[in-house]
Amino acid sequence: MKKILFMTLLFSFAILAGCSGESETDGTATKEKNLQIVTTYSVVYDIVQNVAGEQAEVESLAPIGSDPHQYDPLPADVQAVTDADAVFYNGLNLEAGNSWFRKMIQTAGKNGKKDPVFRISEGVEAKLLESGGHKGDKDPHAWLDVQNGITYAKNARDALIKIDPENKQAYQENADAYIEKLEKLDEKIKQKVADIPEDKRYLVTSEGAFKYFSAAYDFEAAYIWEINDENEGTPDQIKSVVDLIENNNVPALFVETSVDPRSMETVSDETGIPIAAEIFTDSLAKPGEEGDTYIEMLEWNINKISEGLTN
Ligand SMILES: [Zn+2]
Repeated sequence: MKKILFMTLLFSFAILAGCSGESETDGTATKEKNLQIVTTYSVVYDIVQNVAGEQAEVESLAPIGSDPHQYDPLPADVQAVTDADAVFYNGLNLEAGNSWFRKMIQTAGKNGKKDPVFRISEGVEAKLLESGGHKGDKDPHAWLDVQNGITYAKNARDALIKIDPENKQAYQENADAYIEKLEKLDEKIKQKVADIPEDKRYLVTSEGAFKYFSAAYDFEAAYIWEINDENEGTPDQIKSVVDLIENNNVPALFVETSVDPRSMETVSDETGIPIAAEIFTDSLAKPGEEGDTYIEMLEWNINKISEGLTN
């Protein structure tokens, strides 16, 4: 009885403290105090959501289907970043077009050391761009190698524990369960690739987004332009990939869901090689459609790539 009375008093105190805005360390108010988390695009959104679970409201700035290299933040986005408990971005030059992310972080007043802005690719071994004005810059598309996705999940876990240590156990459990699924996915992709004859493992896409993927899963990758943010689909770029296709035994072409498909259609017309499928690189599929999670988008990709190159 005494204990119940004590708990009631404690609870009342918690409510009072809540009213005066001093409930920072009060565990009883977690329901209303879900973390507000902002991510820059849908892939990071999904990974962070999986690790955060019910403890957080997670949102993505660049809408699903759009190109996160270049994004024009809306006033509501700046407000969301200002209010956020944590902001996760990919880094490795992904959100670098027009410096949109850096400018937004400044506008939102998130420059101080206290403000938690996390680069989710921390610790990933960067691959470098090889052509044009971006030669030597880091290539952002690390998430297309599942082992890097696992690094992202671990970074999300550590960051969430840092800003919300009370829920450490939940973040650890969520991360463990998610990483186990990612390990299975990595294995599945490797098995699928093993069934594709080595001389057919040619991955031609519009943007050169498959450096990390190709290194991890043993493909040759070719592209029309190397990164979204430069001239996309110039006559020189088209000619050079057409030459490459004609000099190699490329069975099929692929086009990404988040780019304008017309350049790849031109390449297909000029070479007579079909576009086998749309695949995902810089965005998930719309909610409810196949490929609407990080895991599903990579499953979709390997299924389409495998069908396209072996049929
Ligand atoms: Zn890209």
